[in-house]
Order: sequence, then C-alpha cells, then structure tokens
Amino acid sequence: MHGRAALLLLFLCGAAAKCAAGSGYYGGDDFARVEKIDAHVHVHGPADHLMAQAARDHFRLLTINVDYPDFPPLARQRADAISLRERYPGRVAFAGTFSVQGFPSQAWEQAARADIETAQARGAVGIKIWKNIGMSLQDAAGNYVMPDDPRLAPIVDLIEARHLVLLGHQAEPLNCWLPPQRMTVRSDREYFAEHPRYYMYGHPEMPSHASILAARDRMLRAHPGLHFDAVHLASLEWDVDRVAGFLDRFPKARVDLAARMAHLEYQAARDPARVRGFLIRYQDRVLYGSDDAYGPDDSDPQAVAQVHRDWRADWDFLTSQRRLRSEEFARSFQGLRLPRAVVDKIYRRNAEALFAGAWVAPGASEPTGAAGAGADAR
Ligand SMILES: [Zn+2]
Repeated sequence: MHGRAALLLLFLCGAAAKCAAGSGYYGGDDFARVEKIDAHVHVHGPADHLMAQAARDHFRLLTINVDYPDFPPLARQRADAISLRERYPGRVAFAGTFSVQGFPSQAWEQAARADIETAQARGAVGIKIWKNIGMSLQDAAGNYVMPDDPRLAPIVDLIEARHLVLLGHQAEPLNCWLPPQRMTVRSDREYFAEHPRYYMYGHPEMPSHASILAARDRMLRAHPGLHFDAVHLASLEWDVDRVAGFLDRFPKARVDLAARMAHLEYQAARDPARVRGFLIRYQDRVLYGSDDAYGPDDSDPQAVAQVHRDWRADWDFLTSQRRLRSEEFARSFQGLRLPRAVVDKIYRRNAEALFAGAWVAPGASEPTGAAGAGADAR
C-alpha cells in the first residue's frame, strides 16, 4: 500500500513542472514563484513601482486605511485604496475605517456609519479599528474610550451585520509598558525613547495593557458572530502560548503577523519548537502581513527595495532551515522550515477564506475564496 502510494506520487510529480517529491517543503527559489498575499499593508498614492515589485514577487495585497495622524487624511486614504483596487484588479483588496472625531455625538455615529457603508459599496472587505480606541480617545468626562464602550457597539453591530471583517489593533507591544532594559527588541526600545508620549511605562495613569485587551475580549464576547482579525498577533506577541489562548477563547478570530515577526524570531532564538508548534497547530488561523507602509511618494527605488527585503526575510524565517540574524536582537535563530501546506495557508489560503472574494477583479462575477465572508470562515 505504502509502496503503491509512493509510486503514484512519483508519477504525479513527474507530470508537474516543479514538484519537490516527498520533501513537502519550499526552497528559497520558491519565493518568487509561490502565490502569496500580504494581508496587512498601508499603501498610499499611485504606488505603481510597488505594484510592479508585488507582481514580480507574486504578492497580492490587502491595503488597510487607518485613523492615524501620520498617514494621509482618511478621505485620501480611501480614494487611494479604491483607485489601487480598480487599477490593479484582482491584485489589491482594501479595508476601510471610520474617524473618531466628534465621538460620541449623533453626528459622529452617522458619519461613521456612512464611512463604513461607502467603503463597502466601493469594495472594502473589512473595517479597521485602531489603538486610539483604548489609548488616546477620551470622552467628555476624561475617561478613555475602550473597545467595549457601549457607544461603539452600534458600529460593531453594523460591521457584523454587513459581514465585514473587523480588523482590530488594540494596545501596543507589551514592551511599551516595560522598562527599557526589559524590552525584547531594539526597534521598540528606540521608538519609545524617541516618543515618550506613547511610552506607557512612563504613563501609569493611562490604561494598562491588560485592561485594554480585557475590554477587547469583552467586545468580542458581546459579538459572537463577528469576523475578527486580531492584527499584530492580537497584541500578545511576546508569548505564542498567549496568542494560542486568545485563539482558543475566540474560535472565529484570526491573527496576523504584521510587524511582529521579530517577536516570533526572538522566541524562536530560545525555543524554536514552541514557535513552530504554534504555527502548525493554528495553521488555519494565522495570516501573513508585513505592515509595510508605502507612499504617497512612488519615486524612491529604495522604498520598493525595502518592502521586497522585508518580504524575503519573512519568507526565509518561515520556510528555510538557515541560521538567520535580525537587527532587532543579538542572538541568531534558525528558520522554522514550515511544511509547504502550512506555508500556503499562512501566505494565501487563510486570507482568501477570511476575506472571501476580496481579490476578484471588480466587475468579475465569481469569487475565488472558499466562502462568502458572511459564511463561517473556518
Ligand atoms: Zn498596520
């Protein structure tokens, strides 16, 4: 029986142009060949040079609008996303967002509803809520507005009723609440030294990491039908066991790896089997994302090259067995060499299932995803 199966495999692979028979793993050359999705980027402006690189690297994109003051105004972000999706049919999908300006007035709620409905009408497959909820938005009484605030609930209800995915970025890496000598990665140490205003260790009067995530979890419990993408490893990046706990508590939720790969690498430098085991066990629920921000200037080849380098470094960590280094910390670590079936899910299939139909050319009829976003995305 076993021998016959092996013969059959040999026969099938002989017919395919490139099939690493029996290996079940990707090699480095496969990077440029395998169809992938980066489900977390922020692309502004024309971005034609970035899109040429994405095509070369076989990446489709989900570009996400964010209520972030350093990014272009929200109306501009949305117009850019709609334009990209129309100019690169089938290659770009987008998630919209809403402003918190005027919260919690009736005018604010009407504007937020209109933003969500307009984004969906123009092709958005998700809506982002950002860390300003829980960390900067305050009501008239001076209280921080948390993700489970009842005044936000009608907006979450609307997102759920419209079968949009809610992409939630709540809190920050735990490093933001730790003294510098306990921070794990260099970029956090540098960022919070330069931006003391955002360094929560220095602001004990502000909400704690645990209280923000507890409010996020209460919001999810109150919306059991919601499709939720907990970006940045659900802000539990420092311990894959905690991410696992989150995924166990919320069976409909997904997480993405955006801007937190260094935290997996840091853990892999100490206990690679634990990180690898986590990704294999939750292979249906983890989405690849880089969090790269690009534009609106599209004239700097270095910016394009940087995105390519980020994509390539992440691929090497997840697929290779090589000894690797990061600028984020001193120790070296080994690539996780995930099985190709797991790589395909993290890099493409999970995004296609969660954001069903997202990468269909506008005007085309048949979605490529496994299910409508309204159906259960497993
Ligand atoms: Zn982001």
